[in-house]
Amino acid sequence: MPAQLMDGTELAREIVSRSAARADELEAATGVRPCLATVIVGDDPASVMYVRMKENRSRRAGIDSRHVGLPAESTTSELVNMISAQSADPEVHGILLQHPVPPQIDERAAFEAIAPGKDVDGVTMHSFAAMAFGYPGFASCTPAGIMRLLNAYGVDPAGKHAVVVGRSPILGKPVGMLLLGRDATVTYCHSRTRDLPRIVRAADIVVAAVGRPEFIQGDWIKPGAVVVDAGYNPGNVGDVAFAEAVDRASLLTPVPGGVGPMTIAMLLEQTVDAAFEQVKADAATFKT
Ligand code: NAP
Repeated sequence: MPAQLMDGTELAREIVSRSAARADELEAATGVRPCLATVIVGDDPASVMYVRMKENRSRRAGIDSRHVGLPAESTTSELVNMISAQSADPEVHGILLQHPVPPQIDERAAFEAIAPGKDVDGVTMHSFAAMAFGYPGFASCTPAGIMRLLNAYGVDPAGKHAVVVGRSPILGKPVGMLLLGRDATVTYCHSRTRDLPRIVRAADIVVAAVGRPEFIQGDWIKPGAVVVDAGYNPGNVGDVAFAEAVDRASLLTPVPGGVGPMTIAMLLEQTVDAAFEQVKADAATFKT
């Protein structure tokens, strides 16, 4: 029997519509509308397109969007100052720094200028540590979206062997930590891993986060495994050989329409969460 497809488009739609309703509720109760500041340095066409898409989606979900553009030749301290100003601005609830930034900029220093309570893209060391320790905080959006998809399809990672192929700070590493937090036994694989097919064949859950089209072959998949394809390569191709994997996996994410739509949905949900938290904190400060 072919795998059941995990429909990220539908789940993302539900999350965004719930977030929009909560944004309306917040405004009705307090007059505050959630606001996401999107910061972009330079005019790389792909980055400009991604930012525009995120701003449009935010507006459609009832989240105000503030566009902050800096020239391509900006320095680290100019960017850090700009992000610090957004962090200090009470009208901004979430901050997204579009990356990669130009090479003269220290990207880590720029991320770290985002106040933890506004780190709705989950890129700071604070957010990563909170996620790894299991404390409240904002998770990196794609890994958080993957966990929501697994939940929605009744996949309990506890006791399962999860193999994550890829170890980037925004995707492979955090998704492995989230799976570990849900009691999976996690194996990380990367470009130096030996005998990758053998390791993937032992997996109950496979997360492909490599960035190479159809890299994970169908015959690497254990029959009945759950396969999450986070890859997104030119031509709408994932990191898993879909046509082969669909006959082996029990559950499989399509590309497009699987993990992709979940990322933006998590960003919007976390922006609304951040606005609620900030309004609550402001009210508490006001009372004291
Ligand atoms: P990345 O930073 O380039 O990381 C790729 C990872 O794959 C690295 O850890 C690398 O290992 C590993 N790798 C490369 N070649 C390998 C090989 N031959 N065998 C095993 N591992 C190998 O990429 P990323 O940002 O994590 O993105 C990965 C994919 O997810 C891309 O297709 C990207 O477009 C997609 N993505 C999708 C979303 C979404 O919203 N859907 C969001 C983010 C990313 P080393 O660490 O050893 O180099």
